[in-house]
Amino acid sequence: MYHGTTNNYPVSKYSIQASQFKKHLIYLRKNGWHTVCLSELCTPDDLPDKTVALTFDDGYADNFENAFLPLLENNMKATWFITTDGIGKHAEWMGPPSEQTKMLTASQLSEMSAAGMEIGSHTCSHPDLSQATFEQQARELSESKQLLEALLQKPVKGFAYPFGRYNEESLTAITATGYDWACSTRSGWFDKEPNPLLIRRVTIFADDTAAILARKLAFADNDVSWKKMANYYSQRLKAKFLH
Ligand SMILES: [Zn+2]
Repeated sequence: MYHGTTNNYPVSKYSIQASQFKKHLIYLRKNGWHTVCLSELCTPDDLPDKTVALTFDDGYADNFENAFLPLLENNMKATWFITTDGIGKHAEWMGPPSEQTKMLTASQLSEMSAAGMEIGSHTCSHPDLSQATFEQQARELSESKQLLEALLQKPVKGFAYPFGRYNEESLTAITATGYDWACSTRSGWFDKEPNPLLIRRVTIFADDTAAILARKLAFADNDVSWKKMANYYSQRLKAKFLH
């Protein structure tokens, strides 16, 4: 799970530098990782073992130059979750407008979709759905879906929860408004989570080098600090000696 891909030093812990992101793509290519759009994971039978779905939340304008074009050059794919009120404007929930809050335009989204990138919804206004009524949730889900489908002339079946927040009613609203799957922000493997409305992802932070990405791909965990790794291996060793 990526967010912004900035040319400057990141102001948010979720926004990665463009040069660092390119190193991630080089790592994936050199190590034989196959990228797919997230919906392709829902039919996993034909996919190679080293398959990864890269996702981008919010729809930042810097993704066009710094993520979409490099992905295209490397014959790779990704899935974007777009906050539709922000299209061609700024991410209002991110504070005062700046270069880093600028959002992708409608024509950029059309171009990305036409080039094989997948577009999903991230609501209209990026609310905390767990604090919204069922009606508010259903409106955010269906209006953003309709807008994207009219723009892209394709069905939009995927969703990601803003702030990773949801409640029981969110799951009902997602199905009722015609989505097939949704991504949470809890970490873990895709195929270890049985609920297609709670797909797990691993967060990429601003400081994540290609080496950290490699460990995240190996462990599907947001925390791959050496302390945690050392603990993991000592538990495994212990388990081995106890059996
Ligand atoms: Zn978001």
